[in-house]
Amino acid sequence: MVPGERPGTYDDAPMSEPQARDSTIVVVGASLAGLRAAEEIRHEGHNGPVIIVGDEIHVPYDRPPLSKQLLAGKWDVARVHHHAPDKLDTLGLEFRLGRRAVSLDTDTRTVMCDDGRSLHYDGLIVATGAKARRLPGTEGMPRVRTLRTLDDCFGIRSDLEGAGSGARLVVIGAGFIGSEVAATCHGLGARVTVVEALPTPLGRVLGDEMGEACAQLHRAQGVTVLTGALVDRVSAHPGAPTPVVVHLVDGTDLEADLVVVGIGVAPAVEWLEGSGLTVDNGVVCDEALGAGDRVVAAGDVARWTHPAMGEQLRVEHWTNAAEGGAAAARNLLAGSGAAQPYEPVPFFWSDQYTTKIQVIGLPGPDDEVVVVEGSVEEGQLVALYRRGDRLRAALGFSRPRHLMAYRPLLAAGASFDEALAVARS
Ligand code: FAD
Ligand code: NAP
Repeated sequence: MVPGERPGTYDDAPMSEPQARDSTIVVVGASLAGLRAAEEIRHEGHNGPVIIVGDEIHVPYDRPPLSKQLLAGKWDVARVHHHAPDKLDTLGLEFRLGRRAVSLDTDTRTVMCDDGRSLHYDGLIVATGAKARRLPGTEGMPRVRTLRTLDDCFGIRSDLEGAGSGARLVVIGAGFIGSEVAATCHGLGARVTVVEALPTPLGRVLGDEMGEACAQLHRAQGVTVLTGALVDRVSAHPGAPTPVVVHLVDGTDLEADLVVVGIGVAPAVEWLEGSGLTVDNGVVCDEALGAGDRVVAAGDVARWTHPAMGEQLRVEHWTNAAEGGAAAARNLLAGSGAAQPYEPVPFFWSDQYTTKIQVIGLPGPDDEVVVVEGSVEEGQLVALYRRGDRLRAALGFSRPRHLMAYRPLLAAGASFDEALAVARS
C-alpha cells in the first residue's frame, strides 16, 4: 500500500480532518447502534446538532427482552427503553421518529426522508440494522408472525392470549429467535413445535455437537423439535378452529393457533442504492468502520474487516451494536486520518429456559469442539472451539464466571494448547 493511503473501500476519498465541534451529525437508525453512537458523540464533547432518523415510532428500545422478559410478561414496556425520556432530553438529540430515510446523496451530503424533507449532514452514521426475513407466501397472513420490533412482540402476545391456555405454537427456524420464542412461550403454557431444516438448532452457529445440546434443552421441557424438516407451505384458515396449518415436505401437517417465523434477517440497505457506498451483504466498511467520505456504519448493517481476525464480518448481536456504535462515532469525529481500527472480541448470549448460553469469539460449524468443564447431562458446561492451532471461541452453558477466563486469550489470539492449559489449571 502507498504510504498515506488508507485500507478499505473508499481509497479515492481524501483523508479527512477531525469533525468540527459544531458540525451537524445525522444518524440513520434509532436503535442500539444509533443511540450508542449519539451518546458517544456527546461524550466526546461535540456540541453541534445530532439528528436521529428512525422509521419506528418509538424512542430507542432494547430488542433482547422482546423474545424473553417482555414476551414472558415479566417486564413492562417502560423497562425495555434504553433511557427514560428525561435522560434522553439531557443528551440534546433531535429525533425524527416515524420517518424513513429513502435515499442518500454522498456528493451533496444529503439524506432524503419519506416525508419529502432532506437533511444535510457534515458527518453521517448508518445504523439501520436489519429486517426480519419472511417466509415466501406468508406475507400478510394472519397468525403468521416474525419478531423484530416491539409491535411484533405485542402481536405475538396478543395472539397467544387470544388462543387461550395450551395454544398451539409452531416455530419455523431454530436459530436465536426460534429457540428463544419456543422457550418463552412454553413458559407461558403454549404447546410448542419447532421446525428446523438443519440437523440441530443453532447448528450453523455452534456446530452439531453443541446444537444437539441445545435441542436437549427443548426436549427436556417437552417441546417438540423436528430437525431436518422442510416447510412446503403454510395455509391460513381465518375463523376456523385451526387458523393456520404448516405443511411439511414429508407430508406432515402441523396445526397451529400461531406460527412464528425466525429464518434470519436481511441488512436494511435499500435506501443506500445509488449512494456510492459499497453494499454487499451490508454496508462494506474499512477496518475503522468507515464506509465513505465522512460516513461510518455500525451494528447489524455494517460489514467490516476485523484487523486481528483478518476476515470480513457482519455480526448480528447486541454487544457488537453497542461497541461498534460508539467506535464508529469516535472515528467519525476523529476524521479518517486518525480513525482507530475496530477489533472487538465478539460476544453474545441467549437465554433459553433456565440456561444462559454465552459465547465469546466466533465459533463455526466445522470447528473442533472440546468440552473442558461440565457436560450436556449436567446442563452446565464450557466448550472450546479449535480452528487450526488457534482458540476460535468459548461457549458456556450457565457458566458465566468460568467462561470469562477465555476472553483475554481470544483477545491475544492464543493457541488452542494455551487455552487447554488454562482449562486444566
Ligand atoms: P436494529 O436494532 O435493527 O435497529 C435499526 C433501526 O433502524 C430500526 O429501528 C429500524 O427500524 C431502523 N431503520 C431501518 N431502515 C431505516 C431507514 N431507511 N430509515 C430510518 N430508520 C431505519 N443479541 C444478543 O447478543 N443477545 C440477545 O439475547 C439478543 N436477543 C435479541 C432478541 C430479539 C427479539 C432480537 C430481534 C434481536 C436480539 N439480539 C440479541 C440482537 C440485537 O438486538 C441486535 O444485534 C441489535 O438490535 C442490532 O442493533 P442495530 O442498532 O444495529 O440495529
Ligand atoms: P438466525 O439466528 O440467523 O437463524 C435462522 C434459522 O432459520 C437458521 O437455523 C436458518 O437455517 C433457518 N432458516 C433459514 N431459512 C429457512 C427456511 N426457509 N425455512 C426454515 N428454516 C430456515 O436468525 P433468527 O433466529 O431469525 O434471528 C434474527 C436475528 O436476531 C439474528 O440477527 C439474530 O442474531 C438476532 N437475535 C439474536 C439473539 C441472540 O443473540 N441471543 C436472539 C434473538 C435474535 P440456515 O442457517 O440453514 O439458513
